[in-house]
Amino acid sequence: MRNNIPATVGMPVEEVDTPCLLVDLDALERNVDKLGRFMKAHGLRHRAHAKTHKSSDITVLQIERGGACGVCCQKVSEAEALVSAGIRDVLVSNQVVAPKKIERLAALATRARVLVCVDDLGNVDDLSAAAVKYGVTLECLVEIDVGAGRCGVAPGEPAVAIAQKIAAAPGLSFAGLQAYQGKAQHVRDYGERKALIQTAIDETKRTVDLLKGVGLDCAIVAGAGTGSFAMEGGSGVYNELQCGSYVFMDADYQRVKDAEGRPIAEFENSLFIYTAIMSKAKADVAICDAGLKAQSIDSGLPVVFGRDDVEYIKCSDEHGVISDPGNVLTLNERLKLIPGHCDPTVNVYDWYVGVRNGRVEAIWPVTARGMTL
Ligand code: PLP
Ligand code: MN
Repeated sequence: MRNNIPATVGMPVEEVDTPCLLVDLDALERNVDKLGRFMKAHGLRHRAHAKTHKSSDITVLQIERGGACGVCCQKVSEAEALVSAGIRDVLVSNQVVAPKKIERLAALATRARVLVCVDDLGNVDDLSAAAVKYGVTLECLVEIDVGAGRCGVAPGEPAVAIAQKIAAAPGLSFAGLQAYQGKAQHVRDYGERKALIQTAIDETKRTVDLLKGVGLDCAIVAGAGTGSFAMEGGSGVYNELQCGSYVFMDADYQRVKDAEGRPIAEFENSLFIYTAIMSKAKADVAICDAGLKAQSIDSGLPVVFGRDDVEYIKCSDEHGVISDPGNVLTLNERLKLIPGHCDPTVNVYDWYVGVRNGRVEAIWPVTARGMTL
């Protein structure tokens, strides 16, 4: 981990160096508590998606405070980083097919409970051979494509064929289904989102029933994200939900509304890009130090938190242009930006600066930052 730490514990937030990732610890904890209460009330497991934060500290918070059963990781290297930091229950919610990665996955299972998604018959042989070599059990979820058009076999018979092969393979155990409808998560309209998720639920149920018919029970029926978790959670079909972004939220997710037209489950923005005004040479614009390299703008530009008098309107590599029609911003003034998309924004930082009551309370590494392998 590099030594570019933007703050020290106890420092007033105004003194924190910029640009950096600021976490409002009260808001973070309220998000964790809120989802934790939902899961408990509905008898569901929450396997928090760590792709959002890549942080062992936040994972521990989600497990110990929020009651999460473990985490999902999207990459083997992300899983390795979290296991090395002490996390003991990890689903790689992805296909692992390259020989070197399969080897690492099996090695990881000597140190933690490891689950993985499978959508290919040949992959079953490869995972099995590695698991036998390392003397471990890899728990496998058959991934079905329930409408996202990404990984996963078709629901129904193709999934059953893979599940049967897993169940018979040495070193593997059939643990259930991965049925994540990623394309639905950010659909703005509640009714449209619900229709997409209903299809996912129906296809998943059909597959669960077919599996039962051949004697294979699904201990885990997994999926769901921040945009839809209440739908899968209320289905009676899914039992393990994978919400990630809820913990931070972002500008895009704030535009996705629940049935009452509120931001989903009233989760709060807890993650900010803290930025400083570096140039005020013109009356109607200010330039801040958070540009393209300080964030991901794939889901739109960041939104200035708590201000409707100024607006982040464009950026270049290291500069952000802020429209300032009232000429109110001043040099070195700090702003909190709500990132357009939380997960890829986090991945460009080494540290989180956790703040409460205007002071720095925690400095956490982005444990799995840059873990793309
Ligand atoms: N599950 C899987 C497989 C994902 O890929 C993702 C995110 O892309 C999630 C869960 C979490 O979704 P969200 O960040 O919308 O809560
Ligand atoms: Mn995302």
